[in-house]
Amino acid sequence: MSLSASTLGKLRHIVGAKGLLTTQVDLAAYSFDGTSNWKGMPEAVVFPTTAEQVSQILKLATEQGIPVTPRGAGSNLSGGSVPVLGGIVLCTTRMNKIIEIDTANFTVTTEVGVVLNDLNRELARHKLFFPPDPQSFLAATIGGCVSENAGGPYAVKYGVFKHYILGMTAVLPTGAILALGGTTVKNVTGYDLPQLLCGSEGTLAVITQVTLHLLPLPPARQTVLAVFNEVITAGQAVHRVLAEGILPAKIELMDNWVIRRIEEVAPLGLPLEAEAIILFELDGIPAAVERETEGVINICRQEGAMEARAAYDVKEAENFWTARRAGFSAIFGNSPTVFAEDVTVPPSRLPEVIGRIQKIAEKYDLTIVILGHAGDGNLHPCVLTDEKNAEHYGRAEKAVHDIFSAALEMGGSISGEHGIGLEKKQFLKQAMPPEAIDLLRGIKKVFDPSGILNPGKIWEEA
Ligand SMILES: Cc1cc2nc3c(=O)[nH]c(=O)nc-3n(C[C@H](O)[C@H](O)[C@H](O)COP(=O)(O)OP(=O)(O)OC[C@H]3O[C@@H](n4cnc5c(N)ncnc54)[C@H](O)[C@@H]3O)c2cc1C
Repeated sequence: MSLSASTLGKLRHIVGAKGLLTTQVDLAAYSFDGTSNWKGMPEAVVFPTTAEQVSQILKLATEQGIPVTPRGAGSNLSGGSVPVLGGIVLCTTRMNKIIEIDTANFTVTTEVGVVLNDLNRELARHKLFFPPDPQSFLAATIGGCVSENAGGPYAVKYGVFKHYILGMTAVLPTGAILALGGTTVKNVTGYDLPQLLCGSEGTLAVITQVTLHLLPLPPARQTVLAVFNEVITAGQAVHRVLAEGILPAKIELMDNWVIRRIEEVAPLGLPLEAEAIILFELDGIPAAVERETEGVINICRQEGAMEARAAYDVKEAENFWTARRAGFSAIFGNSPTVFAEDVTVPPSRLPEVIGRIQKIAEKYDLTIVILGHAGDGNLHPCVLTDEKNAEHYGRAEKAVHDIFSAALEMGGSISGEHGIGLEKKQFLKQAMPPEAIDLLRGIKKVFDPSGILNPGKIWEEA
């Protein structure tokens, strides 16, 4: 469909001339997201600044049956913000005010276009801490993170976005503006609608404001580097650390392929010979951090680590974490097409799933790079391929299918944090009973009877 001059005029009236993009060059910038294989051109991009403007845009879209794709930074890895059916991209980046940091009650209320890193820098000034830390935090918006229920390395100890959402303002496709939830940790008032919207991938409502629970900043932190000559042994060490009752704040794994690429692009002193490294972060009161650091080092050595030691200083620790963050960029920069998968298994089955992924790589003669949040069993096996090479791409698709099957067999899930979007919707039937998918459809109908909001995602045919 193509938007009429009258519709574009109405959109311009709502958001102002500076809040509307319509040229092909501008639109192209909003036709893709963090995936390398999904594209879709919008016909207009709007940048509302208030919930009222969002309401007017959605009301207009519902009246005229125009698809609306909500978008924050567009960094998601599931095709979630790609406007596959064209229409309007509703980008929240101008809703970027932190409204209130309530230091007495450990909450923050913020507009959704605020970038996660900006929020955390502001919170740190008050000695406060918002733990969920997707490794895209330099770009990802709060709204995108809530809508994907994002998590990161801190999930092992502190959980993911849904664990911190107290309340929100959301706009329904009809234009109704709803204040949901509240400001307290405990709140059992009817069905938990903020939790339903968290992880709904922009298919039910547009979230414009959220209230999040905060923690005090831990007084001490220590990073431990452990180097292994087998990825599976690294997985076993992770399991032992947790089984011994030590709960690190982060446990991250990188395989040899990632280590080498990072050292090529931006050398940070990672050991090139290592088949895998595990980075741990311990946090808490200084005496506990000291004891747990010793415990982790001893366990890793007992489990066969070639080297296990604490970072020499804060600078070295920062280098290690920067390297971990560079992992995805190193992978995407090295291959025309990447299936950056996101399977999760119960943590005790981590060594087993790593072994299965290695066998799948051999079976299909593919490079499958492994990195991930090893502490909570959430791995990102990245299958390197090229969509222009049909034969190679076909093998890569089969490998992805086998990886998902392996994770499900082990009691895991096909997405730990990236969502279903377009990337995984063909696998949803494997992961959910048909009755549950019908429930999803029913919920969608209640929120969005005209089906205008982010159509074509999760289970819907595009
Ligand atoms: C290098 C890299 C590393 C990453 N690491 C992690 C990681 O460690 N953990 C992790 O969880 N993810 C990670 N991601 C994925 C991504 O950054 C997250 O999914 C993030 O939450 C997306 O935020 P965004 O602002 O870019 O949202 P977008 O990509 O713009 O949107 C994501 C989804 O939310 C919807 N949406 C956006 N805003 C709203 C709103 N206000 N209301 C309703 N729906 C909305 C969109 O329609 C879309 O479906 C990574 C991505 C990259 C590129």
